[in-house]
Amino acid sequence: MNLILMGLPGAGKGTQAEKINEQYKIPHISTGDMFRLAIKEGTPLGKKAKEFMDQGALVPDEVTIGIVQERLAMDDCKDGFLLDGFPRTIAQAEALKDLLANMDKKIDDVIHVDVPEEKLMERLTGRRVCPTCGRTYHVVYNPPEKDGICDKDGTTLIQRDDDTADTVKNRLAVNIKQTEPLLDFYKQEGTLITINGDQQITDVFKDIQKQLEK
Ligand code: ADP
Ligand code: ADP
Repeated sequence: MNLILMGLPGAGKGTQAEKINEQYKIPHISTGDMFRLAIKEGTPLGKKAKEFMDQGALVPDEVTIGIVQERLAMDDCKDGFLLDGFPRTIAQAEALKDLLANMDKKIDDVIHVDVPEEKLMERLTGRRVCPTCGRTYHVVYNPPEKDGICDKDGTTLIQRDDDTADTVKNRLAVNIKQTEPLLDFYKQEGTLITINGDQQITDVFKDIQKQLEK
């Protein structure tokens, strides 16, 4: 199963990706997570990505396509994968199609998690993440059992640098403009599935499962 998760920042992609990964045993490939790891490790890729990420801007296509190509070539992707946060531009979508074709593969389904824009600011500013395992929480909608502590490994949760109100505004503006043409692209490819993301986390996942198993 070769999948793409789409949706605006805060729509719940990471949250659903964790569930899809558990259920279908396919690796969750998040370009945002890959960039954040590179920044943490201080690699040349991280240095380059940071300039753009700090402003809520997209990292240039050639950089992003390169890291995805390397990742998809890895052994754990041979029976399927879940892309999250990629593609974000038509150039990335076209490059993905070509590089998969070269591997005799294609995208099976594109899951669009749809949430009204006005809900996203609150979701993003209330988001907390575990710096150890990457699990995502929300201070109101998905709190950990113990305030500020990851349920899975006990690490102190943090807020992402780009989840502050100012950066969120810019990220949303950038993403809204770029998502529309991508949705059209996959509608034309016949792979687009739209899911109502404005319901409880478990219900969103039930809808995704229903569609994937159709
Ligand atoms: P994305 O990966 O699309 O940016 P996340 O999965 O990180 O989104 O979710 C953004 C925030 O919203 C997180 O704090 C998460 O816990 C919360 N969240 C995710 N899904 C829902 C939902 N269905 N209802 C309410 N809050 C949600
Ligand atoms: P969100 O979906 O919540 O904005 P991500 O974790 O997907 O967060 O992305 C964080 C940042 O990483 C983006 O604002 C952008 O700078 C960079 N990034 C992630 N994926 C891509 C991509 N496919 N193309 C370009 N930049 C990306």
